[in-house]
Amino acid sequence: MPGYELWGEEEKKHLNDVIESGILMRYNFESARNNHWKAKEFEQAIQKRMHVSHAQLTSSGTSALLTALNAAGVGAGDEVILPTFTFVASFEAVLSVGAIPVLVDIDDTLTLDPKAVEKAISSRTKVIMPVHMCGAMADISALKELAKKNKLLLIEDACQAFGGTYRGKYLGTIGDLGCFSFDFVKTVTCGEGGAVVTNKDEYYVHADQYTDHGHDHIGNNRGAENHPYLGLNYRISELHAAVGLAQFEKLDQILSIQRKNKKVLKDALREVEGVNYRRVPDEAGDNASFLSIFLPSQELAKKVSLELSTKGIGNAYWYDNNWHYIRKWDHLKLLKSLAPLYKEHKELLPNYANADYSQSDEIISKTVTIPISLLWNDEELAKKAEIINSAVSSILTKK
Ligand SMILES: *Cc1c(COP(=O)(O)O)cnc(C)c1O
Repeated sequence: MPGYELWGEEEKKHLNDVIESGILMRYNFESARNNHWKAKEFEQAIQKRMHVSHAQLTSSGTSALLTALNAAGVGAGDEVILPTFTFVASFEAVLSVGAIPVLVDIDDTLTLDPKAVEKAISSRTKVIMPVHMCGAMADISALKELAKKNKLLLIEDACQAFGGTYRGKYLGTIGDLGCFSFDFVKTVTCGEGGAVVTNKDEYYVHADQYTDHGHDHIGNNRGAENHPYLGLNYRISELHAAVGLAQFEKLDQILSIQRKNKKVLKDALREVEGVNYRRVPDEAGDNASFLSIFLPSQELAKKVSLELSTKGIGNAYWYDNNWHYIRKWDHLKLLKSLAPLYKEHKELLPNYANADYSQSDEIISKTVTIPISLLWNDEELAKKAEIINSAVSSILTKK
């Protein structure tokens, strides 16, 4: 699942290039850096592989989301439609720019339900933000169609689905902007890092400037650069980019191991009656970092999760988890902010605590997700498959 499992000589080599020169900054210092430009090289590698015009590295996936929103001019009072099942960073970023996260139901793809999105579109809606959760894609063609029909932006949170594709196109490159995370537990890691990708030149120029205090990056005298816009510091360091570059070179290896391992676990459950799988709009493009199964009821899902844990199989039961599913986002429901919120928040934020998310509850309460490791050998994998099969069958036949 995470690239950190494949730490090796390649990461050390790229890191060493940076350590030897001592230039840890991605910009300037031309004469001292021995021609090492790790951030630039990583961006170019992403552009080339993903057939996207621009990639801008950032300090995290969260700052990639903030950058994408700013680059597209999304701010105070604008509504952004998001799923109830995501990582908290998605709505944190939206709130941070003063925009309004409108959380809507998911369907059996474990991502935005296009019907729920359509219902939630208002005169304030500016963005549809699908989150490609757990390695696989949202119903992206339906969502793109909706965005087009209603003249909305499509910003993909592809933080959990790096390397995944939909009908041959890389997730993140399908909408107006896409965001990736390279935090420590993601498919490819920099330690901490992220990226924004776009085919639109204007958004890229904004992203390049916004992530570096508005510097226009024209010429090679940093002190003399102009600042067309206000920005912040969301730069990645050369050390982080060096790790990411080495990891990126392993992407094919990571994807092929994940796909092979996931298939074995998935096949092991095929003959167990009562187990269903998450719907993946394009199975071939699943990055395969997780296997998500649906059990017949909340009670059975809870039992399966517990039994798997007892037998040493790592898994997530999202319904009881307070990072990824709305049910336990009390800090959001109670708007516990350290500082005063934007005026627009006070006027426009929906009452999440009273909203009806029964469709999402119905799905998430029956979902159990198993992370796929890159380190299992064939023997371990076969053993895991057997344990999972017998744990799930024993619970489902006892019901
Ligand atoms: C990890 C993640 C992020 C944020 O990435 P960081 O690099 O940890 O800031 C955003 N959205 C989703 C769906 C994520 O999983």
